[in-house]
Amino acid sequence: MSRLTDINYVKGVLGRHGFTFSKALGQNFLVNPAVCPKMAQLSGADENTGVIEIGPGAGVLTAELARLSHKVVAIELDKRLLPVLDETLSEFDNVRVVNADAMKLDLAKLIQDEFGGGEVVICANLPYYITSPILMRLLEERLPVSSITVMVQKEAADRICASPGTRASGAISAAVHYYCEPEVLFKVSPGSFIPPPKVESAVIKLNILKEPPVKAADEGLFFRVVRAAFLQRRKTLANSLSAGLSLPKQTVSEILSSAGIKPNARAEEMTMQQFADITGAALQFF
Ligand code: SAM
Repeated sequence: MSRLTDINYVKGVLGRHGFTFSKALGQNFLVNPAVCPKMAQLSGADENTGVIEIGPGAGVLTAELARLSHKVVAIELDKRLLPVLDETLSEFDNVRVVNADAMKLDLAKLIQDEFGGGEVVICANLPYYITSPILMRLLEERLPVSSITVMVQKEAADRICASPGTRASGAISAAVHYYCEPEVLFKVSPGSFIPPPKVESAVIKLNILKEPPVKAADEGLFFRVVRAAFLQRRKTLANSLSAGLSLPKQTVSEILSSAGIKPNARAEEMTMQQFADITGAALQFF
C-alpha cells in the first residue's frame, strides 16, 4: 500500500510544508488506497505509454502512474505543492512536475517535447471547478492522446457520458460524443478524500475516436448549434435555437423542417446525426 494514502503520513508531510487546502483550487486529495492503483491501471498507462497528469496534489495518483508508465509529466498550478511533491515522489526518476495552469499551458507542445510521437494518455483527479472547460479544451485541441481517464463529480460523469438523444444528455454529452466514446468506470465516495467533498465522484474514461461519429457541414457551427439548443433546457428546441443563434423564429422553423425535425422537439431528444442535420440546414444563414 502506498504511504501516500496513509492519512497521518500525508497530513504530516503537508503540515511540515505549512500546506493548507485551497477550496478555490479544488483541492480534495485521495486517501482511499484502492482508488489510485485501479485508476492508473484502467488509464492504460504502461511501459510503452507516457502519461500527462493534471493536478498531482500530494502525488498519490502520480506515484501509481509512475509505477506503470515509463514517464509521467504532472502539471500542478499550486506552487506550494512543489516541495511536497519533491519529497513524496523522491523515489521516482520518471516523473516531471511542471508548475503551470493546465488551462493555459501549450499542451500540444508539451506532449511533443516530452513524448515525441509516442503513445500518451491523460489521467487526472480533476479540480472540479474546471471539469467542463478543461475536458473541452483537451478534446477540442485534438491532442495526440489515446484516452483521458478522469475523476469528476458523479453528476458531471453522468451528464458527460449520457448518450445524446436521452433525457440525461446535455451540451457536454454531445460535445464529448463528437470526439470520443465515454464510459463510467467506477464510483468513489466522499470519504475517499481529505477534505471530503460534498458529493459523490466517479472515474470516467474517454476513449478518443479517430473520426467523429457524424459529419458536420461546419464543425464550429455544429458546436454553436449544440450549445444554443441546450441554453434553455425547458424551452423547445426552436425557441432555444432562435435565442441562442440570434435567428428569427421563422428561419429556425425552416431549418428544423428541412432537417426533418418537429418544431416542438427538445434538445435532449436530438441524436448526434440530428444535430449534424440541423447544422447542415442552418449553414446558409451564417
Ligand atoms: N491528484 C491529487 C489527488 O488525487 O489526491 C489531487 C487532486 S485535487 C482534486 C486537484 C489538483 O489540481 C490540486 O492539486 C490543485 O492544486 C490542482 N489544480 C487546480 N487547478 C489547476 C489548474 N488550473 N492547473 C493545474 N492544476 C490545477
